Amino acid sequence: MALFRFDSPRFPPQAQAAREQARAFLADELEGGRFAPHRSSWSTFDAAFSRRAGAAGLIGITWPRRYGGQERSGLERYAITQELLAAGAPCFAHWVADRQSGPQILRQGSEQARTEILSRICRGECYFGIGMSEAGSGSDLAAVLTRAVREGDGWLINGSKIWTSNAHNVHYLIALARTGAAGEDRHGGLTQFIIDMASPGVTVRPILNLAGGHEFNEVHFQDYYVPDHLRLGEPGQGWAMVTDELAFERSGPDRFLSDYRLLVELVNRVGTEPDAREAVEIGRLVAHLQSLLGMSASIAALLEKGLSPNIEAALVKDVGTAFEKDIPEVARRLVACEPGLDAQSDVFAQTLGNVVLHAPAYTLRGGTREILRGIIARGLGLR
Ligand SMILES: Cc1cc2nc3c(=O)[nH]c(=O)nc-3n(C[C@H](O)[C@H](O)[C@H](O)COP(=O)(O)OP(=O)(O)OC[C@H]3O[C@@H](n4cnc5c(N)ncnc54)[C@H](O)[C@@H]3O)c2cc1C
Repeated sequence: MALFRFDSPRFPPQAQAAREQARAFLADELEGGRFAPHRSSWSTFDAAFSRRAGAAGLIGITWPRRYGGQERSGLERYAITQELLAAGAPCFAHWVADRQSGPQILRQGSEQARTEILSRICRGECYFGIGMSEAGSGSDLAAVLTRAVREGDGWLINGSKIWTSNAHNVHYLIALARTGAAGEDRHGGLTQFIIDMASPGVTVRPILNLAGGHEFNEVHFQDYYVPDHLRLGEPGQGWAMVTDELAFERSGPDRFLSDYRLLVELVNRVGTEPDAREAVEIGRLVAHLQSLLGMSASIAALLEKGLSPNIEAALVKDVGTAFEKDIPEVARRLVACEPGLDAQSDVFAQTLGNVVLHAPAYTLRGGTREILRGIIARGLGLR
């Protein structure tokens, strides 16, 4: 029996049409000078861009029409996602909602939550963050201490989250909280809730990152009341849901295309007549990229069938983030250029500057390399 499920999915003709649709939208955006590819990535938050992407029909496309979706396939969505990343589009505002929160609400949310939230996500008007990590539980999510207790028709939440990307910009978080006893395997008693950031009892405090930017935050809950219709799944099912959600979070092309623009600029800088060393180094990167694209598309096909390819997703994220950390290393070996962030630096130096500052986070966000390797080892029967 195959341990890992990596088939070569056949992209339907509609996926090519979706790709063309995304390319036309992006060409128009670039022509209008509405974003700078060398200064942005999927972790750049730009609400105006997301509203335009929503209007162009590029968000929530697989969801049912009654919730604002288009009932298109996961492979069409995959093609669109890939194009947005390859263009260096600033898509963080809608990214989490489109990638994981919306699908989770569709599968586990109440009818009221689906009706109130999903179509706004599709229009690019409603943004989500992830409230999993806490000070004492990043890798070990079973250790979350944030508590939710029954209160009338809802729940009262107390506790804190940390490293919450965009908590200061989003409308909602999906937060993991303890609602009961952990049990022997420590995976029991956890429940996910949709947190409306406009409700009282939630405070956001900024944390500046290594690049000096404000991307993530601490989030504190003090007697925060969440109505029961914003609970996801049954109480105590949170662990299984988080695990499923991580397959969406870890397997996409965002786990190896964060700095694709640097690869493009590297090829531009080296030009059409590379020497032997340049050809070997860039050729190796492109070959790895091609394999990653195949692996990740294959997971998109498994997700489309309703499966939970968590082990394969862990593998793609581990190999993918190693690849995206390799790009700046190769770029620095091949081109003698100081990274720069100021507008006077050339495009290559600016792209390199941005990537060098953000690359350390690639193997941490969404699950560290050691944790992913533990999951992969378990999948191989090694632990
Ligand atoms: C840019 C960025 C954005 C993020 N955004 C979010 C967000 O929006 N929402 C959110 O909830 N979280 C977010 N995170 C948090 C991220 O998921 C955690 O940082 C990550 O899961 C690691 O947890 P930790 O920081 O608590 O480290 P720890 O869990 O304390 O780990 C520290 C080190 O120990 C290693 N380690 C831990 N346990 C084991 C083990 N069992 N075996 C071997 N090694 C181990 C880890 O690999 C790591 O190297 C973000 C992180 C970054 C960097």
